[in-house]
Amino acid sequence: MSDFQNYIDVCELIGFDIDGTVIRTDEKQAVATTNFLAERGVKKQITARWVKKNIYHLNIPQRIALLEKKFGFWAGDKEKAFRSYENHLIDATRYGKVIPGTPETFEKLKRQSKTVAFITSASTEEAQKNIKLLEDAMGGERLKFPLVALEDVYDGGSRRETKPYWKPMAVAYEKAGCEPGLSSYVGDIEKDMQFVNSVNNHYGRRLCAACFVENTYRRSSLDKSIPVDFYFRNMQKMNKALRA
Ligand SMILES: [Mg+2]
Repeated sequence: MSDFQNYIDVCELIGFDIDGTVIRTDEKQAVATTNFLAERGVKKQITARWVKKNIYHLNIPQRIALLEKKFGFWAGDKEKAFRSYENHLIDATRYGKVIPGTPETFEKLKRQSKTVAFITSASTEEAQKNIKLLEDAMGGERLKFPLVALEDVYDGGSRRETKPYWKPMAVAYEKAGCEPGLSSYVGDIEKDMQFVNSVNNHYGRRLCAACFVENTYRRSSLDKSIPVDFYFRNMQKMNKALRA
């Protein structure tokens, strides 16, 4: 059996990022960004390629700041602009695509009775819409996995304790009803690997393994100082590493 399966066997919890890990969302983000700009009088057709190169790895406030700088406009009140961008993302959900190999991977984890949690920095509504795409690809059955989204680590003020901050993992342990124990987190960007690092630093032991899937960026683009325990060329490879 693969080292990955052996590790999964002893894991209490397996966390998954959503955007870019289970659902391809660069097209959706391009549409949402184009509409966000249009609403503010900026006529720019944003492409998926542009998203990947410029804003994919940024959180929403960072994205808005970059857009303002790049296209020379003012997006308006920060909180209102944040909500507006988030609403455009929700509206563009239909442009998301389930990443090949993901349904099979989740089927296997379910058969192995593993506790899975979705951990994302997106809003609950956006995350639920994305999860629905995955459920549809799996035959329409409801995935009753705990979800940790923006609202779970955000009090409405300016402090959003999202990844790479450790807090979402603590909430995931809580929602899954397990003690902080051996776990994994699967993600597609450097921030996801930094997140695992901060979880381990927070608990003072290596509880969580960092699993990187090269769905969006190559592993070679990651900061070498951030540990990666398992990496996969794509989700099909992860599926293959799991027991049939
Ligand atoms: Mg992602």
